[in-house]
Amino acid sequence: MDDGTLCVHAEGDSSALQQLVSSLQSSVAVDSVSERPVRVEGHEQFAIRGEPAGQFVVQEHQARAHHFDFRLEVDGAMRSWAVPKGPSLDPTVKRLAVEVEVHELAHNEFEGPTGGGAVIIWDRGRYEQGGRVPWPEALDRGHAVFVLHGTKLNGGFALQRTRGGDKPQWLLIKRRDEHARAGSDVVSERPESVKSGMTLDELADRDRRR
Ligand code: MN
Repeated sequence: MDDGTLCVHAEGDSSALQQLVSSLQSSVAVDSVSERPVRVEGHEQFAIRGEPAGQFVVQEHQARAHHFDFRLEVDGAMRSWAVPKGPSLDPTVKRLAVEVEVHELAHNEFEGPTGGGAVIIWDRGRYEQGGRVPWPEALDRGHAVFVLHGTKLNGGFALQRTRGGDKPQWLLIKRRDEHARAGSDVVSERPESVKSGMTLDELADRDRRR
């Protein structure tokens, strides 16, 4: 802070937090210590900054390889990840997400046949940016937490970068909260488009018959 005060956010069980406070109180370098509890909303990280951030969309895409394009609006464009197996609501499941090129917001509306494949809008909605680090810095640093408000996907998620380079690899992970579904496979349970109700196969078949 401007006046030389150091603010610390600490999470843990109460005895550990009490130990931290006493050690600060007994430190000769610290003039005074004051504590303030933070309100817990799902995961504490989301109580720090839950900022309405814009649109998210997940487009299921049959190209040479079948994948799901997971996109988050950041600074007026859609940051995008190709997720081969799609998102999961099971917090024990870590899904590979390969960062791909940024898309325009207008592409969020796209559903239909493509050259040799097809796209459906598998889910969409609004999202909030969480965590202590503002975006896009959180993405630059390789760890971003957020809360989705979609039709199929809801609650806290994290993207964790595991490898940099020109095709950065991330893991997409559901956080443990009331929207988590252990053992579920939302991709197979809810295959339909949230726009047309058609599955990717149905859309591709319809197009082939024309
Ligand atoms: Mn794609």
